[in-house]
Amino acid sequence: MSDLGSTASDIYRNVLSVIEGVEPRIAAATRAELTDQRASLKLIASENYASLPVLMTMGTWFSDKYAEGTIGHRFYAGCQNVDTVESVAAEHARELFGAEYAYVQPHSGIDANLVAYWSILAHRVESPVLERLGAKNVNELSEDDWETLRKSFAEQRVMGMSLDVGGHLTHGFRPNISGKMFHQRSYGTNAETQLIDYDKLLADARAFKPLILVAGYSAYPRRVNFAKMREIADEVGATLFVDMAHFAGLVAGKVFTGEEDPVPYAHLVASTTHKSLRGPRGGFVLATPEYAPSVDRGCPMVLGGPLSHIMAAKAVAFAEARTDSFRDYAAKVADNAKVLAEGLLKRGATLVTGGTDNHLVLIDTGSFGITGRQAESALLDSGIVTNRNSVPNDPNGAWYTTGVRIGTPALTSRGFGADEFDKVAELIVDVLANTTATTTAAGTPGKAKYTLADGVADRTKAASAELLDANPLYPGLAVS
Ligand SMILES: *Cc1c(COP(=O)(O)O)cnc(C)c1O
Repeated sequence: MSDLGSTASDIYRNVLSVIEGVEPRIAAATRAELTDQRASLKLIASENYASLPVLMTMGTWFSDKYAEGTIGHRFYAGCQNVDTVESVAAEHARELFGAEYAYVQPHSGIDANLVAYWSILAHRVESPVLERLGAKNVNELSEDDWETLRKSFAEQRVMGMSLDVGGHLTHGFRPNISGKMFHQRSYGTNAETQLIDYDKLLADARAFKPLILVAGYSAYPRRVNFAKMREIADEVGATLFVDMAHFAGLVAGKVFTGEEDPVPYAHLVASTTHKSLRGPRGGFVLATPEYAPSVDRGCPMVLGGPLSHIMAAKAVAFAEARTDSFRDYAAKVADNAKVLAEGLLKRGATLVTGGTDNHLVLIDTGSFGITGRQAESALLDSGIVTNRNSVPNDPNGAWYTTGVRIGTPALTSRGFGADEFDKVAELIVDVLANTTATTTAAGTPGKAKYTLADGVADRTKAASAELLDANPLYPGLAVS
């Protein structure tokens, strides 16, 4: 990470004292957050640390401008500087990912997915009807034609990866709006290998005939072959939509190339900017030219007005992601995940799929006799921040779970390498092996309560503190 510590110290001390004059509790919480982030072993696979230039770019008066619409076609006057910001961000995104079109307005990954769904419906369901009826837009349709079209939206089908093997709620699951919009069928993984079974997926897709095939995941520790996904989509007439929210940094950093790079194969790709990509909190969509016009209408059709200050920070983050140093970073994220997985395996842990070849590792906590929730809590007591996660066919359901998901993007940003991640593996196994499920009144192991053997939390915190001190977050930055 860039060593801007002393300049940033002056800036943030001043900023915090200004905030202090208005609402001191917010200044205090902002300082405390830095202290906490510095002091914890952050293994949450979806989190990272944005650079100081990215953080600073977010805090400007671009926040004050309304800019609904698209570059050069705004519903508000005076958007020339926002146009510059959005153009630069989109240009970087196109060149970084080799995409023909990029839309950088989405406020988050979920919003980016909504834009993708909306544009697929607009392009594949609405446009053909308008064309057939000779209407320019939906306002020209008769009540009857509109009602027929409205009903046909509700008949569309989506196929996405099952939640318990690592899919995401927005891939058509009932609790999410996507599940209310579409009929959904999910694809799982092979029961033995725990890997995507492309032949089974093809057979299921042939039977279900989805309008949209979604590829992408939040908790699948393996690479996906997007060439195969596209073949399957083509075979059944589906639009291939890839949600690369988790692994965009590995695509940007050219760790995923060839058939593992979604961009040449997908009709649409949506992503976050704040996970492995290490930018501000936000999202974006990449699209082929046929989908570009409908993606471009994301705001105001499904999105609120653009956050110009965040688009500016996306441009800065994309510019950073185009450097050799980001490529080194992305390669290390994947290398470190392998070291972490091997370190866990050699100390007796069980991993979903038996390992990893991306940025995340899913520990099956069942072999330690504890739930994911107990593991997550015991690790947190020891200063290690993770999140519990279902494993395939999880016996403890989505709340307690039997897994813990960990990832390398954040600590790799702090400078952790192979030695540090091997040590992290040792600390994790030490905590999990010393955690026991508390027996319930019925005499069976409970799912929430646990005991952590004496001294484990303290020795883990001391060992992590050594690793963290040797790899400081925002070196040189002092805010109080
Ligand atoms: C994190 C994630 C999202 C949601 O991103 P937000 O920015 O939290 O809205 C969507 N899809 C996948 C696959 C994710 O991992």
